[in-house]
Amino acid sequence: MKLISVIGSGTMGNGIAHAFALCNFQVNLIDISEQSLQKGMDAIRKNLDRQVVKGIITEENKISALKNIHTFTDTKLGVEHSDLIIEAATENVDIKMEIFKDLDKFCKKEAILASNTSSISIGMIASVTNRADKVIGMHFMNPVPVMKLVEVIRGYSTSDEVTKTIMNLSINLNKNPVEVNDYPGFVANRILMPMINEAIYTLYEGVAGVEEIDTVMKLGMAHPMGPLQLADFIGLDVCLAIMNVLHQGFGNPKYAPCPLLVNMVTAGSLGIKSGLGFYDYSKGIKDAHVALKFSN
Ligand code: NAD
Repeated sequence: MKLISVIGSGTMGNGIAHAFALCNFQVNLIDISEQSLQKGMDAIRKNLDRQVVKGIITEENKISALKNIHTFTDTKLGVEHSDLIIEAATENVDIKMEIFKDLDKFCKKEAILASNTSSISIGMIASVTNRADKVIGMHFMNPVPVMKLVEVIRGYSTSDEVTKTIMNLSINLNKNPVEVNDYPGFVANRILMPMINEAIYTLYEGVAGVEEIDTVMKLGMAHPMGPLQLADFIGLDVCLAIMNVLHQGFGNPKYAPCPLLVNMVTAGSLGIKSGLGFYDYSKGIKDAHVALKFSN
């Protein structure tokens, strides 16, 4: 594995590009517009700077990581020579299907196609390609440069060889891979997202306010971050998309997304990425204050 392409330069895509580039892989970062790529590269620069300040990497590491990343708006040009393509585009089935159809056409026949999807079936994604044995889930956690876990999702047709390659590659990236099977939400989001949804219901029903809910979970359960703040970090649109996949995939009403979550996403209140969610980030992440007062 020498050349890795990452599709999407948003929250996850820029983190994945950052992690690979820092481990001396060549990375092609692809998005639909120069503006999105610019935003992604700005985030990578800022996050590398932060690692330099903390003494995690040197200035030289930062410079060489940035040199390892090349940006593209043309998917074909960005993927045609790559050994592995990691798709980290918007969590939407139709978008992912179109991307994988294109990847199957444009990529070398031996290339592995991975998706960073939080919940969409790897088997479904693989079904639009002619290489289902080489399609796999590589679910990184946010923020990618910091978080150790990679949930490696084996689709129904993913080969043993491809699974082993991706497990080993994750280790070379200084991550801890865990192999799981392909069911809605896999393991991480099947457990995490209903908890976040329940926290939103707790707010919606006026049981407690934003800070109170987050404080109970932080101090009572030793979670490093409350569930509402975590939802803001993940992106409320991503949370809603995952709840919809769980709801449809299991057909169980217990996974129905909270109406407040639906309303917030419809209103464009998406958390940190839009500057407003359960908290207001207009004064920066460190000075975030409660944005949503809700009581019955
Ligand atoms: P995001 O909205 O921050 O970024 C998505 C990016 O994809 C945008 O820059 C968009 O322009 C780009 N994009 C959309 N269509 C594209 C296309 N056809 N070609 C190239 N680029 C395209 O989203 P995100 O939070 O980075 O999520 C990306 C993926 O990672 C989703 O599948 C999500 O479920 C998954 N994920 C997210 C998190 C999280 O905490 N946000 C964690 C794990 C996994």
